[in-house]
Amino acid sequence: MERQLDDNAQNVMDGRSVSRVILAEVRERAERLKAATAGTPHLAAVLIGDDPASATYVAMKEKTCRRVGMRSTVHRLPANTSQAEAEDLIRRLNADDDTDGILVQHPVPRHLDEQAILDCVSVQKDVDGLSTLTMGLLAAGRPGFRACTPLGIIELLDRYHVTFEGAEAVVVGRSNILGKPMALLLLERHATVTICHSRTRALADMTRRADILVAAVGRPELITGAMVKPGAVVIDAGYNKVPGRASDVGDVEFASAAAVAGLITPVPGGVGPMTIAMLMQNTCTAAEQRRSPAS
Ligand code: NAP
Repeated sequence: MERQLDDNAQNVMDGRSVSRVILAEVRERAERLKAATAGTPHLAAVLIGDDPASATYVAMKEKTCRRVGMRSTVHRLPANTSQAEAEDLIRRLNADDDTDGILVQHPVPRHLDEQAILDCVSVQKDVDGLSTLTMGLLAAGRPGFRACTPLGIIELLDRYHVTFEGAEAVVVGRSNILGKPMALLLLERHATVTICHSRTRALADMTRRADILVAAVGRPELITGAMVKPGAVVIDAGYNKVPGRASDVGDVEFASAAAVAGLITPVPGGVGPMTIAMLMQNTCTAAEQRRSPAS
């Protein structure tokens, strides 16, 4: 049976509402920047190949740019684009004074080295936070853009006044896009962090220790209520297509986890909207840093 989402449940974190507040803040900042510099924050999205889901995500990002008064340009490259052509486009966008942020839509076709393409994005324009250099800045605790999904999770928890300091945080998943930067951001906020992955033994023993549990796995409903410590904050970053289910399914079995969690994110309407909001925030920050008279 499809789970019924009770949006009014006291322990459900509403990523959609929080993202709307953030987008309104970004809009104001973009307007102030325009008034001060006559420049409009401008995001360049690079879409390689013809994956329909990627096209949908890029269209959503374009729409959100317009909603907050920013510009976006989508650079569409065919599926047979070469590594050199893709990297050349990124270098041209780095050099383009009118581009503030660069986003390479994941995934790129399999014959391409995605990380090598991401590594061409200049640190100043890396609003998705995924180049090796930008990730290194996070690991070293230096200023730089943070990856949008983990940053959005921190922002959501902040707005729900969750305490990080001293908390036991468990992140399930260790991808570069999500699990690793998530763990580093939690560490930066003084949580005690454990990272679990596919070789972790006794996963449930680990997750049951968590005051803050982040599921970033890509396995539908892997985390059940029995794996959650009573009162824990549960973040579900997963969205999985499951045949026969109308909407995307998270990595957490919502009904059983919500029954024990102190706070929990739904899917959809939790982490997803926060990710786009952080992309807008980072792009606006990049524009402020590049275009403000003081910079
Ligand atoms: P990924 O690159 O496939 O990484 C999945 C991670 O989960 C890996 O580290 C893997 O371990 C671990 N894992 C797999 N099976 C496991 C198991 N049975 N027990 C414990 N760990 C296991 O995926 P991703 O890109 O990080 O994405 C994860 C999920 O988040 C997906 O559902 C994706 O759609 C979603 N996502 C959401 C957003 C958003 O904006 N909301 C953004 C990005 C991704 P190994 O490293 O050992 O293989």
